[in-house]
Amino acid sequence: MQDQHDKTTHFGFQEIPVDEKVDAVAKVFHSVAAKYDIMNDLMSGGVHRLWKMHTINQSGVRSGNKVLDIAGGTGDLTLKFSRIVGSQGKVVLADINDSMLKVGRDKLANRGVVGNVEFVQANAEALPFPDNTFDCITIAFGLRNVTNKDAAIASMYRVLKPGGRLLILEFSKPESECLSNIYDQYSFRLLPMMGKLIANDSESYRYLAESIRMHPDQETLKGMMDDVGFERTSYQNMTGGIVALHKGFKL
Ligand code: SAM
Repeated sequence: MQDQHDKTTHFGFQEIPVDEKVDAVAKVFHSVAAKYDIMNDLMSGGVHRLWKMHTINQSGVRSGNKVLDIAGGTGDLTLKFSRIVGSQGKVVLADINDSMLKVGRDKLANRGVVGNVEFVQANAEALPFPDNTFDCITIAFGLRNVTNKDAAIASMYRVLKPGGRLLILEFSKPESECLSNIYDQYSFRLLPMMGKLIANDSESYRYLAESIRMHPDQETLKGMMDDVGFERTSYQNMTGGIVALHKGFKL
């Protein structure tokens, strides 16, 4: 019988044993945590803020709701949700990586967020929450780093309340060949250079570019959500498909 060390998965463009991927991804995010927010602004020219704002607008989250922001990292979505759900609601910022969680916790404390946010270290593949807990779950730029994406989507389905929604914000496949070529030049040449200059780490930013290319495209990801049981699944492309927002409901 094969064990987890014989089976392989991708880590960017490399094939590595399945049981080594979590540590490889952890190394990337331990390394980039301190510079994560500034690099996000630089790499996207600030556009990641618009993608996230659109996600919040599409989430339908209201005062009093319970929200899970899994792979929440430095807490951009959590910060906005905590203001919407108010004192009667709750936001759980969960992430597998304690360096990212620490940056998130400090940032939210500095912005005066207290009381309705809980920080939990957790793997998206095996969420440590009871069934039917959350009104809304978001995972932004997190799913492509997860080893077993089907397990993660199933775990999110389990902890959503009936009537609840999952929103997956992730890099995806550009709609036009021309955009795709420009984007390739940008991500394989410029990104690692910026990573080297700003964070003294070109390898992590090379992984970022490679992991984007290895992520399932729009239709494949929608199919994965359908397979787990999500209903009324849909997606919207943003910035020509560089990013897509997938949505699905647990009915
Ligand atoms: N959601 C934040 C944002 O949009 O700015 C952070 C995104 S960051 C690119 C990806 C995050 O996914 C990292 O904080 C990383 O630690 C987290 N992550 C990677 N694998 C994970 C897993 N299996 N379970 C939970 N979080 C994971």
